[in-house]
Amino acid sequence: MLVASKKTPKTPTTVTWDGTIRPTAISGLHPWTVGAPRDDSLDPNMVPARVAEDAYSALIALAERGECDREGVAETPLRAAKAWRFLTSGYTELPDLKTFASEGYDEIVVVRDLPLYSLCEHHLLPFFGKAHIAYLPGDRILGLSKFARLVNAYGRRLQVQERLTAQIADHLVDVLDPQGVAVVVEAEHLCMTMRGVERPGATTRTSVMRGVFLKQQEARAEALRLIGI
Ligand SMILES: [Zn+2]
Repeated sequence: MLVASKKTPKTPTTVTWDGTIRPTAISGLHPWTVGAPRDDSLDPNMVPARVAEDAYSALIALAERGECDREGVAETPLRAAKAWRFLTSGYTELPDLKTFASEGYDEIVVVRDLPLYSLCEHHLLPFFGKAHIAYLPGDRILGLSKFARLVNAYGRRLQVQERLTAQIADHLVDVLDPQGVAVVVEAEHLCMTMRGVERPGATTRTSVMRGVFLKQQEARAEALRLIGI
């Protein structure tokens, strides 16, 4: 007769600030947040939620040299994990961009100063600034509020500014099939101004042109003039 051997389930572990490995969760309590229950309002099937919480615990332990049971940071891993989920929600929350007939409107439309917040994928630090969009419609136009939603959707990801700029432009090409699109992004990167070369106030400007704005110098100059740069 075969007897099923009982396998001990593997306990999840966390690498701590000094390189030792400790259990990730003990009796539902977080190892770094003494007494704080883990919050299951985060989708338990969503691995990154728990993983992010553990990662933030390890970071706090690293920063605090192990003295990480202060009241002030007790719930920080959970709070930071929730913030992280929001800041990267752009992967799953692309807006539904309903378009309308352009009814013969044949001039450049410009939306300026759209607030932009994103995360540098090299340092996981924010970069933030403004996006400006100009397009020359074909048969379709887009509700103005949708531009801000589009910028948010691509901003709330791990990004480089160059790719972010191109993704906004290409998405508009896909949904509007316009005659031309110009996207300009100006942003300050905290990985550059808060650390590294430490140049506060330094901004990076990227631009992507599609359609007539790419092919015709005059159209491009007009779009940039309307954007104001
Ligand atoms: Zn960076």
